[in-house]
Amino acid sequence: MSDKKTAIVIGTGAGGAMMARELQGRYQVTILEAGGSFHPFSMPLKPFAGLRGTNLFFDPRMISMLLPNMKIDLTRDMVLVRGIGTGGTTTLATGNAVRYDGAFKKLGIDLDEQFEALYKELPISTEHEKKWTETTRRMYRVFEEMGLNPVVTPKFMDPGRCVGCGRCAIGCPTGAKWDTRALVDEALQKGAHLLNGCKVKELEIRDGAVTSVRGWYRGRYYRFRADLIVLAAGGLGTPVILERSGISCQERLFVDPVLCVAGPLPGIGQDRQVLMPFISQQDGYILSPYMDCLSFFFDRRWRLPMDGIVSMMIKLADEEKGAVHGRRIDKTMTIRDHAGMERGVLQCREILERLGVPEEKQFLGMLNAGHPGGMLPLTAAEKDTLHAPSLPENLYVADATLFPESMGNPPILTIMALAKKIASLL
Ligand SMILES: Cc1cc2nc3c(=O)[nH]c(=O)nc-3n(C[C@H](O)[C@H](O)[C@H](O)COP(=O)(O)OP(=O)(O)OC[C@H]3O[C@@H](n4cnc5c(N)ncnc54)[C@H](O)[C@@H]3O)c2cc1C
Ligand code: SF4
Repeated sequence: MSDKKTAIVIGTGAGGAMMARELQGRYQVTILEAGGSFHPFSMPLKPFAGLRGTNLFFDPRMISMLLPNMKIDLTRDMVLVRGIGTGGTTTLATGNAVRYDGAFKKLGIDLDEQFEALYKELPISTEHEKKWTETTRRMYRVFEEMGLNPVVTPKFMDPGRCVGCGRCAIGCPTGAKWDTRALVDEALQKGAHLLNGCKVKELEIRDGAVTSVRGWYRGRYYRFRADLIVLAAGGLGTPVILERSGISCQERLFVDPVLCVAGPLPGIGQDRQVLMPFISQQDGYILSPYMDCLSFFFDRRWRLPMDGIVSMMIKLADEEKGAVHGRRIDKTMTIRDHAGMERGVLQCREILERLGVPEEKQFLGMLNAGHPGGMLPLTAAEKDTLHAPSLPENLYVADATLFPESMGNPPILTIMALAKKIASLL
């Protein structure tokens, strides 16, 4: 038998997949993943558009009947979206590869080396710009005219394979978009094991160390042991496992709420472009063109042909106030959040007017969010260890749960840089 140390990595999203890839070799890694393999939604959307308003599209949670890897939770005022399955939420991402580590710098955590390595290792590119449609270019010009300083979004993407179908958030049909399934594959090739359908419930902790990981696998309650445990079940999954294991988190959940301002513009064809092709950074939020599939299917104001809707997104850095306890998620927009969102809405209204949609024809989308994190935030005291004192010595968290503040920006690249740094310390 090998005397190599063993590690269990829980989750295969941005944090978990990176940890598994980095640790395998130094440790013998077993990856526990609650969901199955990811399958993109491959059917044409048009026939489903005709079913809007029927019982099939009555409640956003029903989307998992069509796309089982997408999990929806509802809070009092928003729809929370996450991915369950190999690749985690990165399989549903629009591929934005944005570095956003100011909050870590403030704590004295330097991720320069990790970002540099990621830019070399991963297919990150702005080349999709060469394939922009006239609609995208027109939108970009409007942003420029308004002084919004749009920047072409770096994407995890092989632009040569991108057909501009706009389906990035329901699974890329051509494989042009990169996600962390590629890292899981690398870990497996190096000898790691992956158990799909393995839902971790809790950790058994004795004398300051995790002695076993417990949960459900193939209908049976199991118990696994390893020298090192890495918890990366995402901003909504990790705090629940910690709490069940007797480790409390902080009520500092952020989610980066998203709201779209949309309107009718027959024939604009925004549904046939890369999602979020460019981004405008504003104070506390970003603006970007985004065809919002959730609102298209579940919001009655959006019952127009998909190619005749123009839609702009505001993605907000929300206040770090909220929590997940078991199945209950307490998260609502604060007064400050509403004020920030309102500023973005006014700017989007002007963008739409300049594109030819008068204000009285404009409508909003459903408030939704997909960047949860922040419930075990790192502090300056942990800048060298990246390990919270409340955690047992052999347990590391390696996902968005560690983020000290909300970003209002795509987090995948930064989560992976952080995970890479944590792996280098182990
Ligand atoms: C529609 C959408 C588009 C997005 N687009 C972008 C984008 O373009 N760029 C960007 O940077 N970010 C984007 N994001 C956000 C980004 O995908 C997530 O913030 C990121 O993937 C979070 O990484 P994570 O490792 O914290 O968690 P996740 O990626 O969510 O991974 C968590 C993993 O843990 C598993 N898991 C959960 N509970 C358990 C359990 N009990 N036992 C075992 N396994 C468990 C899950 O199945 C999953 O594999 C988007 C999000 C959404 C919803
Ligand atoms: S636009 Fe279509 S082909 Fe291009 S990355 Fe997105 S899903 Fe893939």
